[in-house]
Amino acid sequence: MRDYLGDLASDLLGAGVALRGRCECGAVAFEIANARDTVTCCHCSQCRRTSGHYWASTRADIADVTFTRDDGLSWFQSSKDARRGFCKNCGSSLFYQPVGANHLGIAAGSLDLPTGMTAGKHIFTADAGDYYTIPDDAPHIPD
Ligand SMILES: [Zn+2]
Repeated sequence: MRDYLGDLASDLLGAGVALRGRCECGAVAFEIANARDTVTCCHCSQCRRTSGHYWASTRADIADVTFTRDDGLSWFQSSKDARRGFCKNCGSSLFYQPVGANHLGIAAGSLDLPTGMTAGKHIFTADAGDYYTIPDDAPHIPD
């Protein structure tokens, strides 16, 4: 049976979902009005090193992200193409932003549950670590 209110809510939110997230210590906290409802998992070496495993993130326009705390937020220029946001107090990996982009990649692990999200794709799978098996929950893209 069609859930009218649920359909109405998803229409109002576009294709995405509204969420809250934070770092482990709380010095970075944010609300997202409209996040992509899929998670991209990146297995490249930069993402593996900065996240500690592989990087799983959703995506939102910067205009849809409101910081309720950002005193812990710091950025690391991880390549000429992008920077990564993290909490300088607790070390949580939080954001990925291509240079000049008006959107943020947002760590799926930072989000309050339930996220309502599903895995969307695994990228740079050719660069994956050798100690795990990439889940078969979404397409694998080698590079
Ligand atoms: Zn923190």
